[in-house]
Amino acid sequence: MTGLDRECDRSTAADSKGHERERPTVAIHWFRRDLRLHDNPSLTSASSADRLLPVYVFDPADYGLADYGGRDSFVYPKIGPHRRRFRREALADLRASLRALGSDLIVRVGDPATIIPALAAAVDAETIHAGRWDVPEETETADRVRESLAESPNRISIDVEPGHTLYHPADLPVAVERIDDTYTPFRKSVEDDDVPIREPIGVPALPPPPESVVDGTIDLGSVPDPEALSNPEALSNPEALSNPEALSNPEALSNPEAIPSPGGTSDPDPIIDVGDVPPDLRPGDALAFRGGESTGIARLREYLWEGDHLRQYKQTRNDLVGRNFASKLSPWLNEGCLSPRAVHDEVRRYESARVANESTYWLVFELIWRDFFAFQVAKHGGRYFSRPGIRDRDDVRWTAGDDEARLLRRWAAGRTGVPFVDAGIRELRATGYLSNRSRQNVASFLVNDCRVDWRKGAAFFETHLVDYDPCSNYGNWAYIAGVGNDSRDRAFDVVGQARYYDGDGAYVRRWVPEIARLPAEYVHEPWTMSRGTQAEHDVRLGADYPRPVIEMD
Ligand SMILES: Cc1cc2nc3c(=O)[nH]c(=O)nc-3n(C[C@H](O)[C@H](O)[C@H](O)COP(=O)(O)OP(=O)(O)OC[C@H]3O[C@@H](n4cnc5c(N)ncnc54)[C@H](O)[C@@H]3O)c2cc1C
Repeated sequence: MTGLDRECDRSTAADSKGHERERPTVAIHWFRRDLRLHDNPSLTSASSADRLLPVYVFDPADYGLADYGGRDSFVYPKIGPHRRRFRREALADLRASLRALGSDLIVRVGDPATIIPALAAAVDAETIHAGRWDVPEETETADRVRESLAESPNRISIDVEPGHTLYHPADLPVAVERIDDTYTPFRKSVEDDDVPIREPIGVPALPPPPESVVDGTIDLGSVPDPEALSNPEALSNPEALSNPEALSNPEALSNPEAIPSPGGTSDPDPIIDVGDVPPDLRPGDALAFRGGESTGIARLREYLWEGDHLRQYKQTRNDLVGRNFASKLSPWLNEGCLSPRAVHDEVRRYESARVANESTYWLVFELIWRDFFAFQVAKHGGRYFSRPGIRDRDDVRWTAGDDEARLLRRWAAGRTGVPFVDAGIRELRATGYLSNRSRQNVASFLVNDCRVDWRKGAAFFETHLVDYDPCSNYGNWAYIAGVGNDSRDRAFDVVGQARYYDGDGAYVRRWVPEIARLPAEYVHEPWTMSRGTQAEHDVRLGADYPRPVIEMD
């Protein structure tokens, strides 16, 4: 038995409540970015009630267009097709797992601050349990729910518990407000002090749902159509959002053909005109990234046990192409389908059974990066997302006006004229995923070479990434832009990186077919071709493929 499938014993909790209680206790577990049953502390706490109502709320504020907020705000679409699909699949999977254990999932569309208190009143709940994320937007929503519960006649409380990081915040050697702003001292502080990583808790034995769910008085609700979720008109009519037919057809959800075309999305995008990029997905380009706890566990087992890939992770993690150069666990970790502690537990089991080497250590090292960014956001709050960042950099001369709009548009359309950058953007838009190496390069090109406001690149990633995590995304962008957790210059020599990591040009040929015919000598620097060379290879710069958007030396 592992942390992924161990069942908790419910008898103690049930006995401790005594048998003479007249009225059964009712709790709500409000699922947010914790779409799993294993190692879910707040679900486990909620499961000590006699009756449990598991709830998920689609908040329209998380979909459609959003104001970035703060100084120099801009408008961007919060979520694109990849994460919408992944989340919907994850909810279908969660509901199926809950049903298999005699429970169910109530799904609603609307403001959680209205919906959670209304459900609590309907089932006469005593407590609400939810995960805790110390991220401004998520905290703000939880606070509004708390306030509205406090105003309700029963004054119900909400109990939030962390469960998203490897290290429990209470176990850190110093309070989150005092952790170091640089990764290495932070990592050393937990490693050198032997801070324990808590054992994952198993799947709790779930209490039955309240009578009103069993007898059908409370409607279960259905997972809304993901396309409708980005459509402001449909959002004003929550009834129109339900599409129970698709939900009851899991085959359709797992069909790779169902991966939406990035060119086909109707996302309005005021800061960026993304143009049309044909998806043309091929097997092996990326994982299908089907959402759900069960698919997340299957991927973890495939990567560690069946494929035995972990033993060479450190050597392959900077590759660009293929399914297994890295774990590809990030989408499941970030929607909460997998717990980082369960991943860690599985790595330790792999180390005992197969091999413990620098690769097995390095996967945990990367998970500590993820923790680092989560705790940094907890420490700095909204400042972390501001343009000057935590370093208060007001000396950076960002481009503005038409120049900025042009650079951003070309970058976001994968038409900068720099093939390594264009390949990355096109891959991201087609698959929702990008290797870490490629993320670093496309980001650095935008912020260090084009000097476009780093938050706009990060917001574009927020829209398109299937594995978007506010802390890791904005943290990595700020880091590369020089406004975050490192004072050193983080600019990448993008062409040098392309030559080193894509020496034969296979990656750019895959995603930038217009230049696939070019020999390795020109494939990363087509602008160095003379007119004669262009004619020889039948690629005309400025016609078949753009000239670079900035001067390249
Ligand atoms: C500009 C930029 C934006 C990024 N945005 C995100 C994001 O929104 N969500 C996200 O999960 N990661 C983000 N990353 C970090 C990293 O690129 C991805 O975590 C990684 O590529 C995911 O693939 P994987 O699961 O195969 O990673 P692996 O290499 O297998 O690593 C295992 C896990 O460690 C964590 N991890 C690895 N590298 C990092 C890192 N640099 N920072 C934080 N955590 C890390 C992730 O949880 C990852 O799943 C970003 C990096 C950059 C440079």
